Amino acid sequence: MLTPGQTPSSSLSPVRIRSIVAAPLFGESPKGGWSAEIRPEDSIHALIAVHTDAGITGYGSVFTDGRLVQAALQVLEPLFRGENALQPERVTEKLHQNTFWMGRGGTLTHTISGIDIALWDILGKVTGLSVGSLLGGRYIERVRPYCSLLMEMPERMHDVVAPFKARGFTAFKVGWGPFGRTNDAGLDRAIIAATRDALGPDVQLFVDPGASDAHWPQGLKWALRTAEMLADYQVGWFEEALKPDALEEFCTCVAPARCRLPVARC
Ligand SMILES: [Mg+2]
Repeated sequence: MLTPGQTPSSSLSPVRIRSIVAAPLFGESPKGGWSAEIRPEDSIHALIAVHTDAGITGYGSVFTDGRLVQAALQVLEPLFRGENALQPERVTEKLHQNTFWMGRGGTLTHTISGIDIALWDILGKVTGLSVGSLLGGRYIERVRPYCSLLMEMPERMHDVVAPFKARGFTAFKVGWGPFGRTNDAGLDRAIIAATRDALGPDVQLFVDPGASDAHWPQGLKWALRTAEMLADYQVGWFEEALKPDALEEFCTCVAPARCRLPVARC
């Protein structure tokens, strides 16, 4: 029984972090859509394992080059070694607070996020509770997945989406490919029209042009005009409508009455 002011983690004996290792993932990968396509020798994901003195291991994942994650772990090691793995929020905050000046938002931040996931995994294993319960409870028990596919020219879009609709997907995200890259608003519309036609009116559709790609040629006017077009096809959200650092333009897009659908940054 907990007394007032006592938290579950403070009532548990500390579980100390002994080491953290990363496994970069290499190998063949589906086409990603980037200008510089992913090669088998590239690493864009890594797995993280947090080992503890209690013999419990927590696992996390990081969406960045695993070799960078390995280097970041060397930098972070003096900060996490010996820490109590049962206090994920405090330990994660300690790592952030002590390293912001080395590149907030970059490799270190990515790596800390993977450690954070692994620490919650450990707390769940020790307490026997799901991470959902530890974070305050679940509102829903089932989540609708969406099928994420690369765009092709309009005449190809039926063949792109149809096999996955036949497998039972009821939501799709399509993106990258030729969309937004030709200065041809008619082509952009035709791709979306063909996709909506292939999916039918009852399937959820989301669009991600991939403005984080190198040398993205479009700006705010294109994003606003394209958002209007997408709304005509009941698109649920517009992801990566602008370059990642175009913060002022994103603010313009999300201002009331500027776009009829949600606009997200990558
Ligand atoms: Mg995206």
